[in-house]
Amino acid sequence: MKKHELVGMLDTMKGFDPEKAKVKLEQYATDSRAAVEMLFIAGFMHDDIAGHHVIDLGAGTGRLAISSLHFGAVDAIAVEVDRDAIAVARENANEFGVAGRVHIINSDVHHLPFRPATGTSPLDAGCTIVMNPPFGVKRKGADVRFLESAMNSAPRCCKVIYSFHLKNEGNRTFLKRKVEKRGWQVDALFQVRMTLPRLYTYHKRDKKQIDADIYRITRATNS
Ligand code: SAH
Repeated sequence: MKKHELVGMLDTMKGFDPEKAKVKLEQYATDSRAAVEMLFIAGFMHDDIAGHHVIDLGAGTGRLAISSLHFGAVDAIAVEVDRDAIAVARENANEFGVAGRVHIINSDVHHLPFRPATGTSPLDAGCTIVMNPPFGVKRKGADVRFLESAMNSAPRCCKVIYSFHLKNEGNRTFLKRKVEKRGWQVDALFQVRMTLPRLYTYHKRDKKQIDADIYRITRATNS
């Protein structure tokens, strides 16, 4: 499938229900172009998707999880705390005929049980984390906390995390330091523009554009 076809497909997916969307969880469906860009970078520039299990943290409506299957992921594990969002993700997975390959886990990312204490995990074949976490606009620090939980809970097989964050120099320096403290490193940054649709009552405009970075974060040591 071509890039623009995939963007078109994502545009037809169901978004958050405005009646049920939760601003404190910073629920916005990931911009279709930005989502495809992330998977394109992960899948084609770095070979991190085909044949891998993909874990989507804060999966929301399931856009990243579902589209990873189009880049050859074995399956996708979608972790989401909000049941209303999960209902939408389930609907989207059904609609796109991939419900059997999208495993939904209703959990807070800060309480993840991915890393088995001993022995092997079925994920040991290779897995990649993708995520569009809250940007920490409504709850300061939510973005970095999310990233820290991703690094903490990443199964041993997971060598790489792709994550969207607000683009600004201060954020880049801060996140880089946080990542390195945990034995990971920011391997590359890619800039994208995201359109946020009008979803919450305090929004004045129909849509808003923001600049974001896609972070590629890899394990620097045996953390
Ligand atoms: N990629 C998703 C949107 C991500 S928006 C899509 O395209 O629909 C951020 C998501 O993170 C929201 O769905 C929100 O409910 C979820 N979230 C926020 N805090 C969370 C937490 N602590 N644990 C799990 N999910 C969380």
